[in-house]
Amino acid sequence: MKTALVTGAAGFIGFHLSRSLLAEGFRVIGFDNHNDYYDPRLKADREDRLKDIPNYLSVRGDVETRGLLSEIMSREKPQVVVHLAAQAGVRYSIDNPRAYVESNLIGTFELLEAARAHKPDHLLLASTSSVYGANTKMPYCETDKVDTQVSFYAATKKSNEAMAHAYAHLFDIPTTMFRFFTVYGPWGRPDMAPYLFTSAILEERPIKVFNHGNMQRDFTYVEDLVHGIRLLMDAPPTGPAVEGDSLSPVGPWRAVNIGNGQPVPLLDFIAAIEEASGREAQKVMLPMQPGDVVATWADNGLLRRLTGYAPRTSVREGVRAYVEWFRDYYGAGAPAARSSVQGPAMLRGK
Ligand code: NAD
Repeated sequence: MKTALVTGAAGFIGFHLSRSLLAEGFRVIGFDNHNDYYDPRLKADREDRLKDIPNYLSVRGDVETRGLLSEIMSREKPQVVVHLAAQAGVRYSIDNPRAYVESNLIGTFELLEAARAHKPDHLLLASTSSVYGANTKMPYCETDKVDTQVSFYAATKKSNEAMAHAYAHLFDIPTTMFRFFTVYGPWGRPDMAPYLFTSAILEERPIKVFNHGNMQRDFTYVEDLVHGIRLLMDAPPTGPAVEGDSLSPVGPWRAVNIGNGQPVPLLDFIAAIEEASGREAQKVMLPMQPGDVVATWADNGLLRRLTGYAPRTSVREGVRAYVEWFRDYYGAGAPAARSSVQGPAMLRGK
């Protein structure tokens, strides 16, 4: 039986990935601190579902605690490590940069030190489409220039890519960085646009639509994303030999987009929520907000060449599953998302 260490297992993506690995017969060590960036009850509820499945071991802790991940890897000997624990959110990083230094910079350093000592067969870490920043060339390709001055969150994730690249090269650790695009689906994050729109529409509150709706996002359904992660897990990089992978000139390292590959107009996404919920949105059209981008769009070519990946879920189907889960989980009313993280930056996901 293979063992996977998943950091951020109580988080949105970590929960879905862990559940899928357990269903496949993996033993999963789920590591998380259940912090209160958003409602910790949602994290506890996700993890309770994982704990009901045999071969799930829950470990509470902070990734930045010196030596803790190394201790866990020494004890549990995971062949695969997927590092998803991070302080996410673009807007939140403006007011709370220290959380990003602790979780993303120091936490990733601790993870890399643990990997250096215990050498998993494959180390996979989450980066983000936010590293493309103010890049306006579409679709975003891994070989494009990255541009992180618009967000401190993106700066820490770009730093994670550089840190992981150095460790992969120096200590010969096969390493994959994922660049995720706006991920949505059941058990989704309450600080992100799909939640903010759905809760407002179901409660008949107005929603803010920036740039008068002239925006597109590469909304990625969480099960498609997990499928992409899973395929990449089985294809560790072995060096610079992957055709077209010019990002890996030295060492077994690469960065790979995982998106839907098809940007969706924001108004179409809202229309899908209206259709799934049977309610009409009260849209308040507003101008573009500084720092926001008009579109995100993943070029999935490298992922497709490496794994044969193709997304399987239409926005209509994905939104229907999300709204169904939302109604089931929250019943009559959803708790308000924290006001400090609301706003258009949420649309950039991440
Ligand atoms: P999430 O916030 O739901 O999950 C992250 C989990 O990590 C949380 O459960 C949190 O409690 C845990 N965590 C945070 N800091 C920690 C620390 N210091 N020690 C231990 N645990 C800690 O976010 P998510 O949407 O599941 O995202 C997973 C990863 O993917 C993150 O690295 C995020 O930056 C990245 N990402 C997500 C998206 C998206 O659209 N959801 C897009 C791009 C990138």
